[in-house]
Amino acid sequence: MLYGAEEIESSDRDEIGNYEAHHSPRRWDASLYRPVVNEALCGKVSGWLDRIRWPEGKAFAACLTHDLDSVQINSRRELLRTIGSLVRHAKNPGEKLRHCLSVAGLRHRPQNVDLMTPWIEAERKRGFRSTFFVFPTRVRRRHPRDCTYTWSDPTWYRGRRCSVREMLRDVVKLGWGIGLHGSLHSALDADLLREQKEDVEECLGRAIWSTRQHNLRFDVLRTPLAQVRAGFQTDSTLGFNRDIGFRNGIAYPFALKDPSSGEPIGLLEIPLVLHDGALLRKDNLFLGEDSAYRVCRLLIDRVAATKGVITLLWHPNQMDDLRWFQLYEKVLDYIVEKNGWGATPKAIYDWWTGQGLDAELERALQKVSREQ
Ligand SMILES: [Zn+2]
Repeated sequence: MLYGAEEIESSDRDEIGNYEAHHSPRRWDASLYRPVVNEALCGKVSGWLDRIRWPEGKAFAACLTHDLDSVQINSRRELLRTIGSLVRHAKNPGEKLRHCLSVAGLRHRPQNVDLMTPWIEAERKRGFRSTFFVFPTRVRRRHPRDCTYTWSDPTWYRGRRCSVREMLRDVVKLGWGIGLHGSLHSALDADLLREQKEDVEECLGRAIWSTRQHNLRFDVLRTPLAQVRAGFQTDSTLGFNRDIGFRNGIAYPFALKDPSSGEPIGLLEIPLVLHDGALLRKDNLFLGEDSAYRVCRLLIDRVAATKGVITLLWHPNQMDDLRWFQLYEKVLDYIVEKNGWGATPKAIYDWWTGQGLDAELERALQKVSREQ
């Protein structure tokens, strides 16, 4: 360690060639990267592991999700709307001008790439299903970081051009889940969130139950209450936008509570653990594919040892860099190898509550906290 053996063995460096804390394997020893609540229950509640069952004798669950932030690579429609929004929100003329100049991005040709089918097929091949969180079209109060596609925008799907609405309706028909990817402001506003839920439901012609906030915006005092008032059953926002790991130390679905009364509010949190952006983006951990895969395996092992749920998020609109998709496929293969169940948040909700595991967890948590 003294003479840099770890660094010599690793090819991971940041953009200026530095070896950083997140390149060291010792970073992942920290408790933030362990499901410490799961581990405490396994260690302190006798028979805890025997009580957890997953369908068809599976060893643990993987909650598979995707946030649809764009419907076309290099979409000119989306870029023009984003620039319009940035210009409207600009604080001074200089900033306005700078945003206007980003029309230069229009020189990139839009690509007719199917952003949905590869993920669906990768999951279908392994007997899994996932949920796509989609951004609403009707957004009353916009933030410049919001997504800008609409239900009638064209996209490329199953070898033909169609509208986003047609594509999403077909995804539902195939048995894959659709949830809401709520706008930035909606994370703190139940009315906005309800309108956006209804907008997605009108687009699909059916109800939705699962949600994740865009950019993982989550205020622990306000977001869950807004989500439950809007009528959701599950949320999978609770994680870090710029890192992976266990924000609340738990990797089981758990009932969120009203911070003032301590009473359950009727919303099941399925916490986010692993996501592509945190692992691979230049402004986040920026790990090489091999290191990213190694860290994913490590965290999956830790969750699987407690029969927990590891939630994954991979962005469909990252198909212009196939390494991101290839990492997802490798991680899915590892979940198969470990006998995991890859399922949607809704399927996990139905199973967890249907088996009474929500009540079991509550009793076990109370027992452990009484003894501490
Ligand atoms: Zn997003």
